[in-house]
Amino acid sequence: MSAVVVVGAGPVGLAAALGLRAHGLPVVVLEADPEGRVRPGSRALFVPRETLQLLDAMRPGLADEISAYGRTWHTRRTLYRGREVYSRTFPPPSGTPPFTSLRQVDTERFLLVACEEAGVEFVWDARVAGVRSSATGVVLTGEDGRTWAATHVIAADGARSAVRRELGIPLEGSRSNGFHVVVDVADIPGAELPLERVFHYEHPGVGGRSVMRVPFTGGFQLDLQCRDDDTEEAYGTEEAVRRWLPAVAGEGYEDRVLWVSTYRFLRKVAASFTDPHYRVLLAGEAAHLFPPFGARGMNSGIADAAAAAEAVATGTVEAVAECAAARRGAALFNSAAAGTALAHLRPERRIVRAKQRAAAALSPVLPWCGAWLEHAPYGPRNGSAASAGRKY
Ligand SMILES: Cc1cc2nc3c(=O)[nH]c(=O)nc-3n(C[C@H](O)[C@H](O)[C@H](O)COP(=O)(O)OP(=O)(O)OC[C@H]3O[C@@H](n4cnc5c(N)ncnc54)[C@H](O)[C@@H]3O)c2cc1C
Repeated sequence: MSAVVVVGAGPVGLAAALGLRAHGLPVVVLEADPEGRVRPGSRALFVPRETLQLLDAMRPGLADEISAYGRTWHTRRTLYRGREVYSRTFPPPSGTPPFTSLRQVDTERFLLVACEEAGVEFVWDARVAGVRSSATGVVLTGEDGRTWAATHVIAADGARSAVRRELGIPLEGSRSNGFHVVVDVADIPGAELPLERVFHYEHPGVGGRSVMRVPFTGGFQLDLQCRDDDTEEAYGTEEAVRRWLPAVAGEGYEDRVLWVSTYRFLRKVAASFTDPHYRVLLAGEAAHLFPPFGARGMNSGIADAAAAAEAVATGTVEAVAECAAARRGAALFNSAAAGTALAHLRPERRIVRAKQRAAAALSPVLPWCGAWLEHAPYGPRNGSAASAGRKY
């Protein structure tokens, strides 16, 4: 029997492979990198219950494994220019936690082991360079000339997807001005910061730039929002981070920086999530790019992967076409939600900042003002356009 091929062994490709095995299909994953590669940085930390449930349906027990390793905070705080405007502590839940937080490299480690146990075949050092699809299947060509035949392909080969490029599908959308700096910092053993997510508007210690702190197992991630005219040399290099870090995290962390990166807000969605023969489905960053705020990147990619595995298992043109349309609808919703978050975080109109300032001033007497400041940076969560019936 010809296998289904998944291109890319990132979190989305691994979830797709696991989903296909859960439907009993033979799967081959083609990955450009060598076996045992170590991917840097915490990147997608936040894994919500919806994602845990999707993964658990693919491999029972996986949600417990991942959430037992990750960290769940029960307190969320928002500050504005050094003053707390929102703080809420939730009772610890019973059963599957509402979310867990762990570095993407750790999530990928759990997924890789689960794939191996489920009988997924991996071909490492296999960079796909050519794609030919027809009514009967797909032939993929590696850059070294090897070929692979597949009944269907799930393309999870990331933002620079060769499969998307070869199919001639454009990515449509926008890119914001200005950049964010993202930093992983290791905990100081015995002196860990409180287990809470903190968003600080206009932090006085970094010249009024906003900064978010998110815990993960073994440390925390900081996200510093730079101004449009800031330079990476001033804020985004390791040396620069060591200069501003004490004002944000406290003393003693300068030598505990694990990773520094910068990113821009991208909101892009592929013009189609499938090919004219309905044999290829794009998933994850091969299909869409969203900013980290709102945790839509990896999580919506895993929702794509689950839906794609189900459509391929059904095996009809209609199932693939419906999946492509539903997941593109969800991506457009996510893109719009990220746009709402962006308008709050990097407002083009002065009135938005004035509203934030007013809300901060009023929050001691009007708690909903503090709640608005707390929720707005992540954009809306639920909407009918998450048409695959999920948040992501
Ligand atoms: C700095 C930063 C911070 C982030 N923070 C967050 C966050 O807080 N929350 C969030 O949800 N997301 C975040 N993301 C995004 C998140 O990392 C991505 O959404 C996620 O990695 C996408 O997974 P993927 O599997 O689609 O693609 P990738 O992780 O990019 O995986 C693609 C895989 O395909 C392989 N590949 C590429 N080309 C080929 C080819 N031609 N042939 C074969 N294999 C190929 C690559 O080697 C890779 O293994 C962040 C990203 C960055 C860079």
